[in-house]
Formats: sequence, C-alpha cells, structure tokens
Amino acid sequence: MIEFNNSEHLNEWCRNKRKKGLSIGFVPTMGALHEGHLSLIRIAKANNDIVTSSIFVNPTQFNEKEDYDKYPISLEKDKDLLFHEGCDVVFTPSVQAIYPTSSEYNLDIDMGEMANVMEGKHRPGHFNGVMQVVKRLLEIVIPNVLYLGKKDYQQYSILKKMVRYYEMGIEVEQCPIVREHNGLAMSSRNRRLTDQESKAALLLSKSLFKIRDSWQQESAQDLIEENLAVLNSDQLIDVEYLEIIDSESLIKIDNWSETKSAIVCVAAKVGKIRLIDNVTIY
Ligand code: AMP
Repeated sequence: MIEFNNSEHLNEWCRNKRKKGLSIGFVPTMGALHEGHLSLIRIAKANNDIVTSSIFVNPTQFNEKEDYDKYPISLEKDKDLLFHEGCDVVFTPSVQAIYPTSSEYNLDIDMGEMANVMEGKHRPGHFNGVMQVVKRLLEIVIPNVLYLGKKDYQQYSILKKMVRYYEMGIEVEQCPIVREHNGLAMSSRNRRLTDQESKAALLLSKSLFKIRDSWQQESAQDLIEENLAVLNSDQLIDVEYLEIIDSESLIKIDNWSETKSAIVCVAAKVGKIRLIDNVTIY
C-alpha cells in the first residue's frame, strides 16, 4: 500500500493509472476505521483495478468544536486495517494540503430542500463542508467510482446530486449499513460511548426496525409518535429528529400514500455523543 500526503503527487499517480486504462474506486473516510468502512473497501476492491482510500478529519464539516476536537484518531491502526484489506493507496493529507488557500474551495451550490432537512437543519454548514472536501478529494483522486455508506443516507443523496451537478462523470455507489450483532449501526463515534450509553444507543436501531416491521398495521404519524415517546423516556437519549422520508426527495411524509419508497431516519445524542441511523421501510 502506498501512502500519499501530497495532493499533487497523488493526483499525478492517479492520472497515470487512468491513462493506462485502470479503474479507480475511492473510499473517503475520517478514520477511526471499523467494519463499516472496511466493507466499502471490499466492495471497491471487488469492482476496480485500484482502491484508494483517504483518512482526513475535515474541519469544515463540523459544526461543534468539541465534536471535532474529540473525533477519535487511530491512524497507524487504520493504515494496518486498510493494508490487510488490500487497499492500494491511502491518502493522509494535512488540512493545508486539502485547503492550501482558504477561499478557493468554498462552494456555493444550492442543493434545494434536500440539504435543508434532517442533518442540514440540525447541523448548519455541515453539508457545505462535506461537499467542499469531497469535491476536492474527487478532483485529486479522479476515481471511476465513489463508494459511500448508506449509514449517511442524506450525505449519499447530496453527494450523488453534487457529482451530477458538476458533471464529474463519476459513479456513486451506495453500500449497505454494517451493524454490530445487537443492531447498533457501526460508527467511529461509538468508541466514545460509555457502557451505559452503548446500551441506551441500542434503542435507536430497535425503534427503526420496529417502525419498519409495523408499517402495514399503523400510520406513519402514529409510529413516529409512539417511538419518539419510547426514545425520549430514556434519560440518556436526546432525539434531534425521527422522521419517515421519501427516499428520493428526502422530504418528510406523514402518510404512506405520499411515497413509493420510505426510509426512517434518526439522529440523537446519547449522552454527549451524536449518532445517526436509518432503515429502509419499503
Ligand atoms: P466517516 O469516516 O464516518 O466519514 O465514514 C466514511 C464512509 O464510511 C461514509 O461513506 C460512511 O457512510 C461509511 N460508513 C460509516 N459507517 C458505516 C457503517 N456502519 N456501514 C456502512 N458504511 C459506513
């Protein structure tokens, strides 16, 4: 596995490979890698000549300083894990390497309502930061396919739209959510949960599965109300949103008749740790 931290060097390396007709699959991450990340690497590996991953905790997508400051870092272990999955290239840039000038990479794209709901509403500026860093990374790595986890469903939808908007000619592949045996969606932030908080966090995926399993018996609104009450009754959980959305527009629905494909999404603080998860209903 080759490690790059210089953007120009990596770009030149990737250009050479593309000129030779080799395909590049790209998996951007913020590190603190777990099985969820590694599943993306495996999917990329099975479908491309070369797999490139990046480890970069992007400051511009954090709207809370403490969340950024305390974001878990385990660079050496991450590189080891990537190496064992057969990842070909890891990009570990500094903030300066990604944003050499501060203004040049500011994006001003209107993603419409899709970017104003859920994460967009609760984390102002978050998606601008995500688009900014992913656009920059895509310009450096020039991959054929970008692999993203369904865990961040809104992020996937927005980045797919961004790639189309800029006509980047990159395929965007959605990869399934990897969960712990108990149902908790894997997340780098899970490392920061205490034992008690980990137990409480289980309620999130439980509620999502309960909603999925009962949708034919109950209205969307009733299911949301009932499950919100369950989540809110746990003292460690502070729900930011629990919404059933249309999988294309991401707009909240109140009645099943409003959509052909529904996803239930949740964001909640468990203790001080903010977690998100989602489950496709139909
Ligand atoms: P992050 O390091 O959190 O920015 O995540 C990097 C990529 O891994 C994103 O595309 C995430 O959606 C994806 N990812 C994170 N957790 C999981 C998971 N549990 N299952 C599948 N993909 C995931």
